[in-house]
Amino acid sequence: MAGVYETVLGQFERAADLVELDPSVRKILRHTMNEVVIHFPVRMDDGRIEIFTGYRVQHNDVLGPFKGGLRFHPAVDIDEVRALAAWMTWKTAVVDVPFGGAKGGIQCAPAAFSRTEIERITRRFAFSLGCTIGPEYDIPAPDVNTNAQTMAWILDTYLSTMPPQERNRAIHVVTGKPIEAGGSQGRDKATGQGIAYCIEQWASDRGVDLGQATYTVQGFGNVGSWAARLLEPLGATLLAVEDHTGAVANADGIDPEALAEHVAATGGVARYPDADAVDHRAFLSTEATVFVPAALENQLTARTAPLLDVRLVAEGANGPTDLDGDRILAEKGIDLLPDILCNAGGVIVSYFEWLQNKRSEFWDLSEVDGKLRRRILAGYDRVRDAADTYDVDWRTAAYIVALKRLEKVYKRRGIFP
Ligand code: NAD
Repeated sequence: MAGVYETVLGQFERAADLVELDPSVRKILRHTMNEVVIHFPVRMDDGRIEIFTGYRVQHNDVLGPFKGGLRFHPAVDIDEVRALAAWMTWKTAVVDVPFGGAKGGIQCAPAAFSRTEIERITRRFAFSLGCTIGPEYDIPAPDVNTNAQTMAWILDTYLSTMPPQERNRAIHVVTGKPIEAGGSQGRDKATGQGIAYCIEQWASDRGVDLGQATYTVQGFGNVGSWAARLLEPLGATLLAVEDHTGAVANADGIDPEALAEHVAATGGVARYPDADAVDHRAFLSTEATVFVPAALENQLTARTAPLLDVRLVAEGANGPTDLDGDRILAEKGIDLLPDILCNAGGVIVSYFEWLQNKRSEFWDLSEVDGKLRRRILAGYDRVRDAADTYDVDWRTAAYIVALKRLEKVYKRRGIFP
């Protein structure tokens, strides 16, 4: 299987050819700007010292400070982090957020460690990153296996290493913080909320009645569980869910709130009492209106994409579909809401959190949701228009929107010296 960064480059080249991207800009955007790899020691609960490997890749900051999540997972490596960083650059450009693209992570299996060990791993990594991150320079956020608590530990570590007079000026060094520690209303659900807004708009464009619609979700963490919970009030029925513990299905519908409680109590969807266990193929083959992949990369490939029996794939995860997967979805006539548009709700509300921190403001939930809806649907409109103008699939259209925006800035600014 190709590395994920190769997938990014494949997606990039396709759009760059179509818009005849300036050759110099093309050269610049094919590369990441900075890559930091850190091997750092952590004391385990039994007194042993272990060495961990962490990454921060900064792909591009021409639109604003680097921005992107931190992932704790055994599959984290330089190739994956490069790809995730580049997707952030395109995403912020599509939804017009003044941030660049970055991503980071630690190669580890968090389930193997105690909470105190995870805290020390997180804090030592934040300390080791030093001035690689900063509130006006590079701003991390949650991703797979990290959450508001992780951000609170990073915030505390970062501020503790600054002079006291500087501390309250720097709380926007991370976003996705707990509300009590400077987080924003609506950040927790923001990615799922953005997905729901995009699906609502798609349904309206296509004349699909969401009251009669069905959906399946892969991944039931932050993104998947919020998407599932926010689609249900629109009238759609959740038929099947898969996570790292297995897959469950119920043709009469699964209550996403009850499933979320089960996952909180047991750690996964397996053995959820009100649904049947199904295997991976059966899960992917479930006939439904919408499939929301919200787990990891490379889930829809030459092997798995042919199994899908849906009208729309709404990408909650980053990079769930590889280049073969894209081709097969197009051949099957399945619509696609690409990751760099569909899951942009998270970075949009991260931007709102950053702004609130800088201005010492607190916006209420309806203000956050209203602004999120307007901004992500403006991105949706730009992508739809590009798809119509260039007669291309929506992923390529989203890249076209992003690349044209980045190209304009480079042409204005030029290259120093
Ligand atoms: P999370 O850790 O909260 O949840 C990850 C989910 O994926 C879990 O339910 C886990 O069981 C499941 N999973 C892991 N391996 C799996 C496998 N092999 N098969 C099926 N399911 C598997 O992470 P998250 O924050 O919800 O992120 C999920 C995806 O969404 C990632 O691609 C992430 O980059 C992307 N994303 C997250 C945000 C955000 O705000 N958190 C924003 C944009 C995009």
